Amino acid sequence: MKANTQIIHAGRKTKYTQGVVNPVVQRASTIVFDSVAQMKENTAKRGEQALFYGRRGTHTHFALQDAIAELEQGAGCALFPSGAAAVSNAILSFVKTGDHILMVDTAYEPTRDFCDKILANMGVSTTYYDPMIGEDIEDLIQDNTVLLFLEAPGSITMEVQDVPLLTKIAKAHDLLVFIDNTYGNGYFFKPLTHGVDVSIQAATKYIVGHSDVMMGVAIANEACWEQLRENAYLMGQCTSADDAYLALRGLRTMPVRLKQHEQAALDIAHWLNEHPLVDHVRHPMFDSCPGSEVFKRDFSGSTGLFSFVLKGGNKAAITALLDGMSHFKMGYSWGGFESLITVTSSFNRIRTVTNYDFSGPLVRIHVGLEDVEDLKLDLKAGLERFQAQLK
Ligand SMILES: *Cc1c(COP(=O)(O)O)cnc(C)c1O
Repeated sequence: MKANTQIIHAGRKTKYTQGVVNPVVQRASTIVFDSVAQMKENTAKRGEQALFYGRRGTHTHFALQDAIAELEQGAGCALFPSGAAAVSNAILSFVKTGDHILMVDTAYEPTRDFCDKILANMGVSTTYYDPMIGEDIEDLIQDNTVLLFLEAPGSITMEVQDVPLLTKIAKAHDLLVFIDNTYGNGYFFKPLTHGVDVSIQAATKYIVGHSDVMMGVAIANEACWEQLRENAYLMGQCTSADDAYLALRGLRTMPVRLKQHEQAALDIAHWLNEHPLVDHVRHPMFDSCPGSEVFKRDFSGSTGLFSFVLKGGNKAAITALLDGMSHFKMGYSWGGFESLITVTSSFNRIRTVTNYDFSGPLVRIHVGLEDVEDLKLDLKAGLERFQAQLK
């Protein structure tokens, strides 16, 4: 079955849908049983999608879990109330005091804060590594290292890690390998097929796709699934049936949305690349983005998210650019149908081991589903406001 067909069919068991197209929405805390035998059976199979108690999920959740596990080719998918909860609980499910983990320097900022604040307090140490480290990752592996954490492309600066290479090295040292696959979304990149153990996504972004639900997912291979599922359950992680329903509804149209985001973002990236104020474009399909050759090899498509660096600038110019935008609104998210923009002017605070050879402000945009000509006009006017403040 081709991926577009699979995404339409995945998770649509009659048990979940009861004959209609979408799963029934089962909101539940309590599940009641008619007989001792049934109660016993469901209790024994509570980890295998037998209705047991609301926190273990209902058919609405199981339909979403099946669909995402199939998308990412995993043994199972755990649901979390946010992407941040998926990252932190997946890590907590596999580390103990005294352990050491390797975390990519370009990790999503709350992931980094979780390592520095919560893991550090538990006696789990973290070493950050340059996303482009390649084979030298081996030098950072200690006797107590248990986990290599990847994110590709990196948050904000978009460096693309060599997932197959890093995974191979980690596996030679018996490390677990986790990835934040929010950008890859399971449709454009399937980390478990490269040997990664757990793939994590902020489903909040492209899976939900409509900016109206917070949700995290973690998909594990056969070796890690049971430990992930049970530990996430013990830590009380669960989501509402309504949110699971919306996430599954979003997933069904993710490929068509992604294709539109991809085309429009590439169009805008090419246009920006020719703009006199732009130093370089950090879109993973462009040679000016570190790791682009690896991206072209491993990913089957790119999304609406990318960054570009301006040649120079000042606070007034950045403010003039941002304040006047009509389609690209300021927001900390991405992956919805709407265009977004943020600017970062210093990396000293959020990176500790990666050096950047540029000093101008970095603009990150998410290209939404608006008409691409309208979006270009919006950016063009924004860059004119920016330039006017430089004089
Ligand atoms: C948004 C995001 C997260 C966190 O997801 P939330 O649902 O907002 O908690 C994690 N990783 C990446 C790369 C993200 O963009």
